[in-house]
Amino acid sequence: MKKSVFFVFVLIFIGSLFCMAETAYELFEQANNFVQAGDIDTALLYYKKAHQKEPDNTAIYVGLLKIEALVFYNKKQYQEAIKNYYEASQIEEPTDVDKENVSVIYFSWAAELYEKGKLAEAMENIERSIALNPNDPIIYNLAGRIAYFLSQFDKAITFWENSLILSENQKAIEQQLDRTKKEAAVERGFLKRYFNPFTIYFPGQKDPGYISKVLFYLDQAKDSISYDTRLDLVKNTPVIIYIGDQFKQATESTGRAQGLYDGKIRISEQDVSKGDKTLKNVIFHEYGHAVLVSSSSVNIPIWFNEGFAQYCEPDKKVDDKKTAFVREVLKTNKDINMDKVNSFFDTKDNDYVIKFSYDISYLFFMFLIDKYGKHRVILFLNNLKRSKDFEKTFYETFLIKTSAAEKQFFDQLMR
Ligand SMILES: [Zn+2]
Repeated sequence: MKKSVFFVFVLIFIGSLFCMAETAYELFEQANNFVQAGDIDTALLYYKKAHQKEPDNTAIYVGLLKIEALVFYNKKQYQEAIKNYYEASQIEEPTDVDKENVSVIYFSWAAELYEKGKLAEAMENIERSIALNPNDPIIYNLAGRIAYFLSQFDKAITFWENSLILSENQKAIEQQLDRTKKEAAVERGFLKRYFNPFTIYFPGQKDPGYISKVLFYLDQAKDSISYDTRLDLVKNTPVIIYIGDQFKQATESTGRAQGLYDGKIRISEQDVSKGDKTLKNVIFHEYGHAVLVSSSSVNIPIWFNEGFAQYCEPDKKVDDKKTAFVREVLKTNKDINMDKVNSFFDTKDNDYVIKFSYDISYLFFMFLIDKYGKHRVILFLNNLKRSKDFEKTFYETFLIKTSAAEKQFFDQLMR
């Protein structure tokens, strides 16, 4: 979370305003010194002592409440921090700084709830944060994301538009706004069913039997992938089912994609005409992306992400045909490496390149299992949950760099 929003603690000067015992005043002064030195815990101690000496001095008491709020805030005890500010506001009129601080507390609380997937509660808090400080684009950006994942498109659009008014130069927000408008045009009016950990969105005219089939496979994917990899969804995930051209309109995907994960699992209806098997594979594949990406905060290379998602497909196997095809391409294109493969995934309209990219990603993933053992690959997947750096965690788990593993893989493939 970017920290443009931050907590400001303003020293409270009471010397000239109140007549008080010297010792209480001294304690208060010392408390202020500790605040300035950044030692909040000791400052709190001195405020408490000062308050004990002069329990009726409201200025000291308000100072104590606010510094204690900061201590609560640092410990992420947001509710307690807000309670303190509320109590202080009953004694004296909150300043603008107080309001901004409470806004920051609500913002941080909302961010924490958002990370946990508790979107409705996150929305309540971010709206309070905005009400107290309507001039910070960062707050609107988070509000937009929360609304977006609640599929409250109009709200999300308004939040992001507000953010762009306050701060024009935000490319990522502009793009997100653009995509959301397209998505909203398709999904406004979709029905919603809540089946933890999924929220299913679908067009009303869709056959309910199909929806239960999707749900059935999602449940299967959840159980079997959790059993196999010990990876679970850490938050509720929206699953959107499209019919006809809706998938293409909402996602701007060209080519033959039938599913997509971009924080939401998106499934195109077409699969059903090709039989349940395809639908099952698509759902397991996209669930694989969801469970991998949502449980970790590192940037996962596309080849690994796609390799793993294919590993999750129940019908996927390494076969001679795939290996021969990849080998053939590599023979005639000697400069291909996995970095290039990552960029190939962007060549959306070239089926041949796309097929090669998926196949080689899958083969590399399966090579890791073959060479280092499935238990180690599973360990790596789970280590990624706490990881800050894909490469570093890879090295710590496999005791080899990805570049060296890649060389081993290419050598074995071309032998
Ligand atoms: Zn994929």
